[in-house]
Amino acid sequence: MSIIRPALYVVATPIGNLGDMSQRARDVLAGVDRVAAEDTRHSGRLLAHFGIATPLISLHEHNEARRTESLLARLEAGEAVALISDAGTPLISDPGFVLVRAARAAGYPVLAVPGPSALVAALSIAGLPTDRFVFEGFLPAKAAARAARLRALREEPRTLVFYESPRRVDATLAALAEVFGEAREMVLARELTKQHETVLDGDIRAVRAAWEADPGAQRGEVVLVVGGAPAAAETELDAESRRVLDLLRGELPLKQAAALAARITGAKKNALYQYGLAASGGEDEAD
Ligand code: SAM
Repeated sequence: MSIIRPALYVVATPIGNLGDMSQRARDVLAGVDRVAAEDTRHSGRLLAHFGIATPLISLHEHNEARRTESLLARLEAGEAVALISDAGTPLISDPGFVLVRAARAAGYPVLAVPGPSALVAALSIAGLPTDRFVFEGFLPAKAAARAARLRALREEPRTLVFYESPRRVDATLAALAEVFGEAREMVLARELTKQHETVLDGDIRAVRAAWEADPGAQRGEVVLVVGGAPAAAETELDAESRRVLDLLRGELPLKQAAALAARITGAKKNALYQYGLAASGGEDEAD
């Protein structure tokens, strides 16, 4: 394996199953002068497992700007550097963007050593359309910001992919049901490639019920894949009418909200009411 000097190698590592480490990843990590890693203790164990003794240097979200300067100096001095993250592909909801951008701007070769990513792994098994998709990474942790982000995605026709922390899956499933309606198709992929790999599929209501029914399994890492919105022609209401209803639904019982939204937008009251019912999972909570 020839290592180009000076170059930055962006190397994917396993998302749970060490058998997914590629031979090229091993060769590159063994052959470069330095490996920049998010958590050097964690990555030290990975490298040790494969008998790789290359020195590690930390690069995480809090020191990336500073570290980029010193890594560029190493490239300038003729060294080859690899970038890895704790798991999967660097830069995919992981640090590395600042370094890659700076290395590229400075004219150094930036070379991919591709491999696992939870995003592609989840998408590849979800059984939802993959010809086009939208990767949203992590949703905001705060409820209001999370709901606002989801509302902005409600009309998105492409498959949506979210990363989620196990602590927030309950809240996110509730928010998905609230904003997209419980009938939307989705897949919850947990602990991919690991011993306790679990994949839940169905509509949002079914996935939520299955998740809540098994508290013991509510640990580990999760990717949520959500079907896109039905084509506009399939929905009776335009986006503006739905937006107005959604605003009013937050303040008023559904019947009143639908009546008022009908007067504001000119849309049919019953269509608005039915849409509101579907969005709340068939229950008119306020009545
Ligand atoms: N760079 C990584 C990649 O390429 O997949 C992602 C890093 S991000 C900080 C961590 C998130 O990825 C987790 O919260 C989870 O959403 C997802 N993830 C990572 N490993 C996973 C696995 N084995 N199964 C399911 N989701 C996983």
